[in-house]
Amino acid sequence: MIIMYPCPMCNSLIKTRSSRTLSEYVKEKYYYCSNPACLCVFKTYECFEHFITTTIDPTITANADIQVSVPQPPTQPKRRYSMRLE
Ligand SMILES: [Zn+2]
Repeated sequence: MIIMYPCPMCNSLIKTRSSRTLSEYVKEKYYYCSNPACLCVFKTYECFEHFITTTIDPTITANADIQVSVPQPPTQPKRRYSMRLE
């Protein structure tokens, strides 16, 4: 997992220490700073907020073989252009 934010104390790279699930949609995560001069430890909460899109078929499970047809942009008819040199 890529951590997209730095240590809140020194802006160095942080690493995951541990995590635990608090509820179906909330996870508590502990991190530590990789900077030896800092080494702060802190926790965050990761939670589900809202859907950006919804599933096509809510009966589809995570392991189902999903075949989604992606709409293609309409194709423009090819036009021929000619330039007349005089
Ligand atoms: Zn730090």
